[in-house]
Amino acid sequence: MSLATSRRYCEVALPVPLRSTFTYAVPAAWNGDSLLGRRVVVPFRNRAMVGVVVAESDSAPDLSATASRVKEIAEAMDFLPALPPKLVELGDWISRYYLAPIGETFRGMLPPEVELRRQREYSLAEKGRSYLADLASGGELTDDERREQTLLQQIAARKDEQEDARQSKARKRGHAIDHSAAERLVRRGLLTAREVILHRQARIRKIVSWNSAWSLGAESSVSRITPPLKPAEERIRQVLAEATVPIPLDHLLKRANVPRAAVERLEKKGALTSWEEPLTVDDPWDTDFTPPSNQLNTEQKIALEEIWRWLLDDKFTAGLLHGVTGSGKTEVYLGAIEAALSRGKTALLLVPEIALTLWLGRLVRARFGDRVAVLHSALSDVERAREWWRVRQGGASVVIGTRSAIFAPLENVGLIIVDEEQEGSYKQEETPRYHGRDTAVYRARLEGAVALLGSATPSIETFHNAQAGKYRLLQLTARVANRPLADVKIVDLREEFRVRHKAAPVSEALREAIALRLEEKTQAMVLINRRGYSWSLLCRGCGAFVQCENCSIALTYHKARSRLECHYCGYSMKPPKQCPRCHGEYMYFVGDGAERVEEYLREKFPAARIARLDRDTVRTKREYQQVLGAFAKGEIDVLVGTQMVAKGHDFQRVTLVGVVAADQALGRPDFRAAERTFQLLTQVAGRAGRGDLSGEVLVETYYPEHYAIQHASRQDYASFYEKEAHFRRMLHYPPFTALASVIVRDKKVEHAVRWSRLLAACFAPYQERGVRILGPAPAPLARLRQEYRFQFVLKSPRRAALGKALSAALDFCAKQQIPDSAVLVDVDPTSLS
Ligand code: ADP
Ligand code: ZN
Repeated sequence: MSLATSRRYCEVALPVPLRSTFTYAVPAAWNGDSLLGRRVVVPFRNRAMVGVVVAESDSAPDLSATASRVKEIAEAMDFLPALPPKLVELGDWISRYYLAPIGETFRGMLPPEVELRRQREYSLAEKGRSYLADLASGGELTDDERREQTLLQQIAARKDEQEDARQSKARKRGHAIDHSAAERLVRRGLLTAREVILHRQARIRKIVSWNSAWSLGAESSVSRITPPLKPAEERIRQVLAEATVPIPLDHLLKRANVPRAAVERLEKKGALTSWEEPLTVDDPWDTDFTPPSNQLNTEQKIALEEIWRWLLDDKFTAGLLHGVTGSGKTEVYLGAIEAALSRGKTALLLVPEIALTLWLGRLVRARFGDRVAVLHSALSDVERAREWWRVRQGGASVVIGTRSAIFAPLENVGLIIVDEEQEGSYKQEETPRYHGRDTAVYRARLEGAVALLGSATPSIETFHNAQAGKYRLLQLTARVANRPLADVKIVDLREEFRVRHKAAPVSEALREAIALRLEEKTQAMVLINRRGYSWSLLCRGCGAFVQCENCSIALTYHKARSRLECHYCGYSMKPPKQCPRCHGEYMYFVGDGAERVEEYLREKFPAARIARLDRDTVRTKREYQQVLGAFAKGEIDVLVGTQMVAKGHDFQRVTLVGVVAADQALGRPDFRAAERTFQLLTQVAGRAGRGDLSGEVLVETYYPEHYAIQHASRQDYASFYEKEAHFRRMLHYPPFTALASVIVRDKKVEHAVRWSRLLAACFAPYQERGVRILGPAPAPLARLRQEYRFQFVLKSPRRAALGKALSAALDFCAKQQIPDSAVLVDVDPTSLS
């Protein structure tokens, strides 16, 4: 055998939906630097692809297993490995634990490839050469043939240039080739195509400052011979003087309102100094923000001291900070971050939604300055890449962000905080289906760091872990400054109906309570967790709801747009006058949504300033902040909204919170329905009475005796937990059993049925190995985006057994050639509906 075994090989994770990595050889000429965590460009099925090296080895792979020979890595991209070793380990864990394709897992962990440009390069195939020769020798050419000849010649010429000099000017001058014509020739075998990856130059911008030496000269005796500044030039001088620091050219032009030529003139005179800098993310924070300076109260101090002790231990500790709404958890987070930094460590703060990165980001930034980086999905690729690399290069030691910020490339992590750990948004609902909170705890374990989960209404899982001693428990039992918790009253809608014999969008009790707030000039919030005007359109003749074409779901009526819309796939139609099924003419809107509630309140209170906050009224972050800003400033009296209004915000003058259709979630066939209802009600109740004024909460319901509503009205988490944990244990649900959902889906119902049957047979033997298998049954959403869906639910007290059954199933699917996209595995699903 050859001595070539001294070569090095690596396993590369590529962004393809396959569960394996791919082996590539390291070019012999490369020195011995480790490639682990570095992005590499590799040839893959005639394309160039960017992947990440997740393992290295000195021994040759088993070539007998692979038909083809091992290819070489084409290029290593990062000098500093994009992913530090701990993140490589974390990605590996995610792909195993959640049974997610490894390449797609790692793709989500890498920075956006903004420095790269993909381009298709064509070259003449053998057949193309002879065809070109034929065309040249033959006589008359048709128009089509002439066009083909030109294109082929153009490509032949281009290819030579490329080989001469990849960046030659000649190429830039050359005519753009017609890609669709070229692709046609590729299909005929006359051209071959390959994708190449070109590096893009970092974008830079010009920074300008006033040359103080010049102005000194101007003010000295020489000034008499220096011509006075023109008005435009004077404005430039003023803007730069006011700015006190050098500013980017485009800002200068805008602020001084001058043409570029004016700046260039001054530059020529020597009045300005300028240089070029790589673009950096613009500071998104207000500069005039002054954070509150709070003296920690006793409970906050005790919690913080305990966190200090964990940090001093220098080993993995997970803790739950259970603090009622308004108890000042944020101050504890800030103190904990400060503690971690003072130990020379870095810190990560996860929040459940983008709006909170701004709100909390401001506080964190005010405290820790530009050591703070923000990462979330609403940043542009360029912004995100820049923040990402700043963190990677050690330019930031505190990262705040949403779910995917758990992959922030910090090193030496000392603390990971997960705010509102119970939030469903931490679970990613597409591949890889990881849970941000659980991933945070695992990462803290890898890093030997402290994981701090904060909540007023912890998830049953987390509180169970705290009870079991796996997590340490810290409690803040009182609101700051001893403000009382809001007084929660239940409005029994059955009683209302008995008295009034009709149902209004808002109960009489709530209407009166709002009237009172308008009189005393405080503010009210109304939560209605349903978008649109009416939940659905019902035919009184046949009893059918008007359904989505693509999904088995009733369409929601949006009055402002005068459309029926599907909230799952976006399908919409004009509300039909007749029933699409029986052609009956008595069509009837049922169920009031946020739009209807707003309209009703406007009718009742024409003089009040009423606004609505949901995904129909605010589509951008800016609009969202405008509405919330106006509410905070007291420019709005009543804010109606979906759960967007329930979270985290701190409004001082809200004295009333009304919850319309509080029990709406309870009707859902989901094991988390009670938990979700309890959490939502407690959270929204926590919005009232946060300032010096006391608060009242009205909860409308048809099931006043339901334990989720009863305990939420008393804001009694402990009792709710007892009851809910009891049910979960009895019914074998998390956290007392490991749970997974498997959905089999296809546009053809026969396929979905056949594959489900095959899978059922594959799962069957695991029944005897401690895994309970329910299904296949039509999924709660039996049809979604034109696909038919069947569901299995797997349960096991032993997670390892569950994992084995799932991975066997995926291997089985691969063997049976069931497409990967047809089988969705969700480990620890947040809901089964
Ligand atoms: P939580 O997240 O626990 O609901 P926050 O952290 O939002 O509560 O704090 C609620 C309010 O109390 C904020 O306005 C905050 O500035 C204020 N606050 C926090 N700690 C103190 C304190 N020790 N003394 C006075 N006010 C405080
Ligand atoms: Zn639909």
